[in-house]
Amino acid sequence: MTLSDDELDRYARHIVLPQIGGAGQLRLKAASIAVVGAGGIGAGAIPALAGAGVGRLTIIDDDRVDLSNLQRQPLYASDQLGERKVDIAARFIGKRNSHVEVRTIPDRIEPDNGEAILGGHDLIIDGTDNFATRLTVNDAAVALGIPLLSAAAQQFQGQVALFGAKPCYRCFVGDAFDADDCDTCAELGVLGAMTGTVGNFAALLAIRTLLGLGGGDEAGTLHMFDGLALGWRKIRIAADPACRTCGGA
Ligand SMILES: [Zn+2]
Repeated sequence: MTLSDDELDRYARHIVLPQIGGAGQLRLKAASIAVVGAGGIGAGAIPALAGAGVGRLTIIDDDRVDLSNLQRQPLYASDQLGERKVDIAARFIGKRNSHVEVRTIPDRIEPDNGEAILGGHDLIIDGTDNFATRLTVNDAAVALGIPLLSAAAQQFQGQVALFGAKPCYRCFVGDAFDADDCDTCAELGVLGAMTGTVGNFAALLAIRTLLGLGGGDEAGTLHMFDGLALGWRKIRIAADPACRTCGGA
């Protein structure tokens, strides 16, 4: 695999970075990421991932654009109401960077399709809006041995964490949310700029992970952003010895 003249120009600001260079850019080109959810988080992450030249992006979402999405989802426009989000996202990525191969899945991740849809990727980013889907994505990620980057924003709070084999997302939230009955941003609200901040941070963490940037292993660290106090902090997540997905510590 090589970089064309067009790609060398396009990624010049990456390639000049000693931590990336041509070799790092080729690693991004060879990489594949599954983005589960093309809502606020996905709309924050997808432009950054496409611009960075991640070679293959799979966008998974069964939703269509609603007027109430536009406050926080900059992939979509007022004349696209009712259109499938994955179709618009794919067109956006194609225009933004034709070197990125896009696959769209207009479906939800369920226990019976999760491993088939998510298999074969180097990283999964989950920006969905309910715990049931998040736990299903987690179970598939652990079974497949694929790192899972989970990102969420609600009101003025954001959370991003990378999960490896252990701890997993279920260690973090427990079993209580398997039923699809939990709070979503529709009920609690969210500032539009919060999902953009968190989605972009998720893209940064994804690129760091793919390239091994920054030295430390971020797996198992929860990054929290407070949009009112205005700052990030981070804590370690403990593996749950009773976790029925990863078996815990
Ligand atoms: Zn676990």
